[in-house]
Amino acid sequence: MIEIPYPELNDLLIMMGEAGRHLAEIEASEGAAGNISVCMRWKIEPRNRFPVTDEIELPQPVPELAGATFLVSGSGRRLRELIDEPTASIACIVVNKDGKTGKLYTAPHRRFERVTSEFNSHLAVHYDQMCSSGTNFHAVIHAQPVHLTYLSHIPRYQNEQYLNTHLLRWQPETIINLPEGIGFIPFRIPSSPELMTANVEALRKHRIVIWAKHGVMARSDVSVKRAADRVDYAETAAKYEYLNLSDGEIGEGLSAEEIRQICKTFNVQQTIF
Ligand SMILES: [Zn+2]
Repeated sequence: MIEIPYPELNDLLIMMGEAGRHLAEIEASEGAAGNISVCMRWKIEPRNRFPVTDEIELPQPVPELAGATFLVSGSGRRLRELIDEPTASIACIVVNKDGKTGKLYTAPHRRFERVTSEFNSHLAVHYDQMCSSGTNFHAVIHAQPVHLTYLSHIPRYQNEQYLNTHLLRWQPETIINLPEGIGFIPFRIPSSPELMTANVEALRKHRIVIWAKHGVMARSDVSVKRAADRVDYAETAAKYEYLNLSDGEIGEGLSAEEIRQICKTFNVQQTIF
């Protein structure tokens, strides 16, 4: 939930750009991999930055989000380049009254044909979260951090309890920032309805979820940079785990008791340890 004064369109575009650059810096968006979207309930005026208008059909009806505004990265655009010229890589969508279609606002110099092919998952997660929590703002990121994705190829890390007890043991910050742990979705075809449904369910319980053998999706109802931080925290944990595997598993990690003490001190509710 965001309080007044609400961020303006330009601020949101800059924050999406900064999140995109950060994801590239942590090697979570090679080539044109990854995508970012935000949804907000307050009114913004898109036409100054996005004067070209079109009508589009939404991937699913979202009647409760009539009037809501989305900013979505374009298909094939590079997250690291969003910051250079945000309107060339981002589209704005305002949901029409019918909840099934939207007005698409873009810039004349846009360098994409369509919004990201993962928009079905983004929209479904925004819709589910905004309806259930009543938040006026929600950000979703899909990224492809190397170490998390690599671990998702190893069978024993495909078990959520094993994954979390091993990844959340390397730094005190990890459990504080990801108290519900990291969710896990078995491999699903990119952009498929199966991946979309699995995302909605996993992101009800978690702030970040691994898409096995592909990448992650993270969300935040505070800021797009907070969602990017969640990718960063989870990827750092995976890096430690990878380091430990490569070193013959000589690291101890924080013990379950130490983690419980951290949670007690910082008032963190968790059920993993
Ligand atoms: Zn991807």
